[in-house]
Amino acid sequence: MSKIVFVLGAGASAHCGTPLMGNFLEVAEGLWRRGEVKEASEHFEKVFDAIGYLQGIHSKAKLDTYNIETVYAAFEMGKLLDSLPGIEEMSLMKGRDRSTLMEELISSIKKVIGYTLERTTKLPNDNEQKPTSNIAYFEFADIIKRLMDEGKDCSIITFNYDLGLDFSLQYNGVPADYGLNNITLASRKSVPYLKLHGSLNWGRCSGSECKEIIPPRELKRAIYESYSTIPIISQLKTMKCKCGAPLEEDPFIVPPTWNKTAYHEQIEVVWKRAALELKDAENIFVLGYSLPSTDLFFNYLFALGVDMRTILKGFYVYNPDPEVKTRFENLLGSGIIGRFQPKVFNFESAFPYIRVALGL
Ligand SMILES: [Zn+2]
Repeated sequence: MSKIVFVLGAGASAHCGTPLMGNFLEVAEGLWRRGEVKEASEHFEKVFDAIGYLQGIHSKAKLDTYNIETVYAAFEMGKLLDSLPGIEEMSLMKGRDRSTLMEELISSIKKVIGYTLERTTKLPNDNEQKPTSNIAYFEFADIIKRLMDEGKDCSIITFNYDLGLDFSLQYNGVPADYGLNNITLASRKSVPYLKLHGSLNWGRCSGSECKEIIPPRELKRAIYESYSTIPIISQLKTMKCKCGAPLEEDPFIVPPTWNKTAYHEQIEVVWKRAALELKDAENIFVLGYSLPSTDLFFNYLFALGVDMRTILKGFYVYNPDPEVKTRFENLLGSGIIGRFQPKVFNFESAFPYIRVALGL
């Protein structure tokens, strides 16, 4: 449905201070040890205890226990397989059954992800406490605005949970449609902003019949001297669904493994919408997304969803890691290679090239 599709990964949010997948847990542990996440301290402790056990299995198998995606996936798979290193010991020690402990662990890691992103995603302020215009996401929001003003269909597909772009779109007056409702695409007054792995500001209704996902209407900043953050998790806790039930305590975020089955019901509508947006895309820009091996989802979404033979004119991949180019080459196949335009640079440097490619 969209002629222009932007696909964003963790590298796009890095300019706001958001940690990348590979050093996420190191950053999280630092926040915890320095006492900067006191309200969630017990959850950090639980997660790092469990990671300690995971590190013990290194002699048998190799898991990157510093990578948040790997660890989150290991916990989810542990629950599915009813087996996780250390779970027996923890169960005996705490006198609790294993499945409850694993449920709690998954809830805890969502809080670790949530609080870490909340604390680290910092938007710089000027001395009047307004966000400064040098936030790269503001420039990106400006490009989206230009495209919408010119009547060009565009959409954003992202793998990120954080709210850096959500806030930037809101602040720059660009209405975003998360695609959570099955609405028709007839009128385009907002940009489809499809968060494939969920979002920190998505709260799920706790009513067993309902389970609807509710994002708050407006993101509010917590303003510090030189920067602002967007505290959201405490806000979700106080919100209620239309049906009257309170929202679940944890934000609705989906682990980056192929095993997304437990989350299908609510997020399927977002994935289908993403496939629809990609279907007749003429230009695709992949920014800060490295096509990690832990996530086969994009491979399928892309391979099944994009009409590569006829419609696609340009496939642009901007990433500072030169290996990413090879990964995408393998994904694309030879038919499209002439339209493949990889560049080795980061998200912040991409805008002049995007403007030229789109004639803005
Ligand atoms: Zn409800």
